[in-house]
Amino acid sequence: MDMRATQSEVLFDRRGRRIRRLSLEQRVELRKRYAAEIPGWRRPLIGYVISVPLVAITIWTTLMLRMIMKGFFLFPGSLAVLSVLFVALFWGVGPSLFAIILNTALLSYFFIPAPNNQVSIVTYEGMVQLMPFVVTGLITALITAQRERERLKTLAAEQELQAYAMELEEANGKLEEANQTKDRFMSIASHELKTPITTIRGQAQLALRRLARQQESSADLESVHTSLERINEQTGRLTSLIDELMDVSSIRAGKAQLHKRRHDLNVISREVAEDQHLLTGRPILIDISPNPVKAQVDGDRISQVLVNLISNAVKYSPERSPVEITINQDNAQAIIMVRDHGKGIPKEQQERIFETFYRTPDAQSSLKEGLGLGLAISKEIVERHNGRIWVESAPDQGSTFFVELPLK
Ligand code: ADP
Repeated sequence: MDMRATQSEVLFDRRGRRIRRLSLEQRVELRKRYAAEIPGWRRPLIGYVISVPLVAITIWTTLMLRMIMKGFFLFPGSLAVLSVLFVALFWGVGPSLFAIILNTALLSYFFIPAPNNQVSIVTYEGMVQLMPFVVTGLITALITAQRERERLKTLAAEQELQAYAMELEEANGKLEEANQTKDRFMSIASHELKTPITTIRGQAQLALRRLARQQESSADLESVHTSLERINEQTGRLTSLIDELMDVSSIRAGKAQLHKRRHDLNVISREVAEDQHLLTGRPILIDISPNPVKAQVDGDRISQVLVNLISNAVKYSPERSPVEITINQDNAQAIIMVRDHGKGIPKEQQERIFETFYRTPDAQSSLKEGLGLGLAISKEIVERHNGRIWVESAPDQGSTFFVELPLK
């Protein structure tokens, strides 16, 4: 079956809806499928064969009725219509047309005696007598033809849908492959970059220490010192950037092992909050759960998630505004909330901030530095713990990040 959606011509009907003009091959293919779908006893050939006894029975019954009713018998075709209807219902247009012809011939032979033994349908009276039957029969055949066409159209639509689904699956596969190639590239590139940068940084730090031991000082030495400081600083930034890149690619590739143990999420959160307070000087209010919140987690990785969330909350909210952390638990899960009083994140960007390298236009135009990796890494970590991470936010109402982790 090769009904690829791209191969048929795309047209538009008068109402502007897409219609597809099928090629001859595709039509034949479709007919074959249609035929394959109906059960064996409903094949047209069987319809033609069955028409003969069926018509014979109706004609015979009609003859009997005429005999019984004698003078009252009008329009003998009414019973014959039944046989046509029956054939049309089960065997379609061809056999039903055949049944009409057969009925007409037999009716004219048995019921409309003509002078000189001619076939009487050709006489005026014969035509009038048989007209209601022939017209009803033809309408039945027409309705059947329409039904068949609709069925074929549905089949065509189904086939088209199948072709689209296949294409989509193929495209998805390719995307997945491209994604893996990208992750592999990121992982190799960051590994390769890391060694020379660490060496450069080490050399700069060594030179700085040597300079510090020098007794004499001059303007030249001063400028060398400044340059070395800058090299040290920038290579430091590069190193942490490469670490983040390596982190995201190794977590993605499933290479990063999780070392899960039972931890109290109250304790982890408090430790991270204290560290971040010391580091940033920002008030961090923490409202822990009254009982220990024990979960089977990789403590370092969950701390990493909280560091990302709290440092973001600090980074994207006004100086001195507090960051609030709340820990809750119910029977099955723990929820950690990190709330800030910043500008908030527009609804349409709330999903995207968890993508790698995505930064909101606001963040990009601000002086706040970032790569857009922290939340992507956090999401990977949380999901590898079978948890969920999401944000709720409204303009000028700040943002609250939620981390939900299963307790069992
Ligand atoms: P970045 O290094 O840019 O901070 P993240 O992955 O940590 O990368 O965050 C992605 C983006 O999400 C940020 O660039 C910022 O636009 C937005 N964001 C994250 N946290 C907050 C927050 N607390 N308030 C407002 N925006 C945020």
